Amino acid sequence: MTRKVRTRIAPSPTGFLHLGTARTALFSWAYARHFGGEFVLRIEDTDVARSTQDSVDQILASMNWLGLGYDEGPIYQMQRLERYNTVIAQMLAAGTAYHCYCTPQELDEMREAQRARGEKTHYDGRWRPAPGKVLPVAPEGVPPVVRFCNPPDGEVTWNDLVKGPITISNREIDDLIIVRPDGVPTYNFCVVVDDWDMNISHVFRGDEHVNNTPWQINIFNALGAPLPLFGHVPVILGDDGQKLSKRRGAVSVTAYEEAGYLPEAMLNYLARLGWSHGDEELFSREQLVQWFDGEHLSKSPAQWDPAKLNWVNANYIKVIDEVRLTQLVEAQLVRRGIEAGKGDRLQRLCALFKDRCATTVELADWIGMYFVDVHASAEDLTAHLTDAVRPALKTLCGKLDAVEWTRAAIGVAIKETLAAHSLKMPQLAQAARVLVCGRAQTPSLDAVLELFSRETVLLRLQRA
Ligand code: GLU
Repeated sequence: MTRKVRTRIAPSPTGFLHLGTARTALFSWAYARHFGGEFVLRIEDTDVARSTQDSVDQILASMNWLGLGYDEGPIYQMQRLERYNTVIAQMLAAGTAYHCYCTPQELDEMREAQRARGEKTHYDGRWRPAPGKVLPVAPEGVPPVVRFCNPPDGEVTWNDLVKGPITISNREIDDLIIVRPDGVPTYNFCVVVDDWDMNISHVFRGDEHVNNTPWQINIFNALGAPLPLFGHVPVILGDDGQKLSKRRGAVSVTAYEEAGYLPEAMLNYLARLGWSHGDEELFSREQLVQWFDGEHLSKSPAQWDPAKLNWVNANYIKVIDEVRLTQLVEAQLVRRGIEAGKGDRLQRLCALFKDRCATTVELADWIGMYFVDVHASAEDLTAHLTDAVRPALKTLCGKLDAVEWTRAAIGVAIKETLAAHSLKMPQLAQAARVLVCGRAQTPSLDAVLELFSRETVLLRLQRA
């Protein structure tokens, strides 16, 4: 019987939701949706010293922004301590786990001696019970840890959904600590109990966890729990070829929201990092769900490519609903202290400039000139405000003062000015742009001018 597909994302709330975790969440979500399964959000907060509510809030906000809806959760590990303790007690009773009273100093000495003998360092099993073995006497005042009785021989093998078959010898791994001296269980144990209790069928996670999987499989087996399938997704590398990290670029999801990216573009771009469907680069959320069946996941690291992300975002900016685009740009303007006012002007501005913008921040950069005064650079002024153009600008001012304020009428005023002064369009248009817009390149001048007030255009042109 095939299992119902249940996937999960299990971030630790010790920082923001970074891009790697967001991508794993996306894969897990898409996989569950593709197979009509369920997706669970679990917060792995057993590192009490480093876990914060702020981080939980950020994780939830990022998932929400990306539209990665979960069917269960958030489930907090710290609220499950009782369950972990029950399982630990069962394992101690069954002999699949045991108390170990080694002090840190003793463990140091053990490793030192192993090194001196040229051996690989490992826990030597001195507290591990065995038939006929006499254990040391438990020392006073030393809080024990609980260790897992890892099988001493044999191999752990799994067919990784991403990497293919992987085999690790049990001789390579020692008896893992599953409860710390303070009584809090450790990651590799909690994750197994959780994935078991939550009936997780497929575990997608970053490949930094590959080394943990043999332990987890052994613990699943010790508990008699059904194994999920594992898929370890390679890291994302920055454009410098190094692993993305907090110190390398903005790697939180929320930073991209602030930087003017659309969630659907981010989702699209993240999905292509380490996964492909033919040559498709732009696809909808629905298409992703339809296509994402766990095949075509790349074994090699993906490269973060800011230029490609911009390209994807620019494509979405061109096609999204203009009312929504306007709201997003309005929010960016508000951040700059600009109040766009009522009416449809902002929407018309967005429509005029959106084709040349990769982000809503870039759109706000363009549109800012309609609300705050701008000044061209000295180079632009010298290059475009020539003696040949100045009289024409005066003529243009006179005409613009009198015309009906529509794009068509402004266009006629510009053409008449060109004819009267025997100038070519670029000469006059670039000079006018430099004065009114503070830059020499813009969309069609009549369209750009129409969306200013007549007063502003005349005021800025008169600075010639
Ligand atoms: N809390 C772990 C992490 O954030 C989860 C690993 C897993 O998915 O098993 O890396």
